[in-house]
Amino acid sequence: MNQNQKLISVRNLKKYFPLKVSWLKIFKERPYVRAVDDLSFEIKYGETLGLVGESGSGKTTVGRTLVRLENPTGGQILFEDVDLAKLFGESLRTKRKDFQMIFQDPMASLNPYMRIGNAIEHPLKIHKMGNKAERKIRVYEILEKVGLPPEEFYNRFPRHLSGGQRQRVVIARAMVTNPKFVVADEVTAMLDVSIRSQILKLLIDMKNEFGLTYLFITHDLASAKYICDKIAVIYLGKIIEIAKTYDIFKEPLHPYTKILIASVPVPDPKMKKKKFIPSGEIPSPINIPLGCRFHPRCPYAMEICAKVEPELKEINGRTVACHLYD
Ligand code: SF4
Repeated sequence: MNQNQKLISVRNLKKYFPLKVSWLKIFKERPYVRAVDDLSFEIKYGETLGLVGESGSGKTTVGRTLVRLENPTGGQILFEDVDLAKLFGESLRTKRKDFQMIFQDPMASLNPYMRIGNAIEHPLKIHKMGNKAERKIRVYEILEKVGLPPEEFYNRFPRHLSGGQRQRVVIARAMVTNPKFVVADEVTAMLDVSIRSQILKLLIDMKNEFGLTYLFITHDLASAKYICDKIAVIYLGKIIEIAKTYDIFKEPLHPYTKILIASVPVPDPKMKKKKFIPSGEIPSPINIPLGCRFHPRCPYAMEICAKVEPELKEINGRTVACHLYD
């Protein structure tokens, strides 16, 4: 594994969901929810890329499309030079052991009638990895790694576990096939604040031990700051800024990123931060504004912003899509 090499290259990815229309409107152009709208980025081996944005920005759809829980409408998902967007059937099933997704709600992710040991063993069975005895050894191993003593937890049901313990089980299940790439989608959102840092620490430990690469999806900038090497900011299905975590917190460039950073709570309430307040509501992903999609809410909007969509481009070593830097 070369840490300067790309594990994933996403190019012009699109995911549109068609809306149902009445037969009276059948001759009009069919409306779509443009959840992911022409988005490109890369993740190197061993890197954690944060995908941050408000609820409804398309983050989860990006994650689900990368691991092919959704079929892309267009674009490429190059995973070690294999285009996942073009895989179907058996070839996709075989590849699936290399990439996994951890979901927000651990209770909803687990079958309430399946014992913990069986739930973690399930992906090994699907991918025909090992015999029964070998699989049990592997499940014991991974339970140890996530901090759940196997003798105590192997035969328990999800309802007997706390929220934090259930999330550890979900992490164990995702890691049991020894994947290369994991999408972690709002994995701490439903946990108590006291448990969140433990789960983030566990993800970091697992990454270091198994040489994993993460896409870390969150609306919580504080978690992203803690765990991510780089951050991509998404707004209405499009990435509007990508930078190293340090740079994005020190000097956010895009007006929307400035708003997100300004909304992160500061430890000292006496410390004043300059607030950039957006005006108006987030537009619908069905009717995305022409030009810069952020222009109806942007305090710096200029005439050109309503007409021309800014490209995501490199400016002095930073990558941003905004006419302020043309
Ligand atoms: Fe604001 Fe214009 Fe930049 Fe969009 S392109 S963020 S509207 S200044």
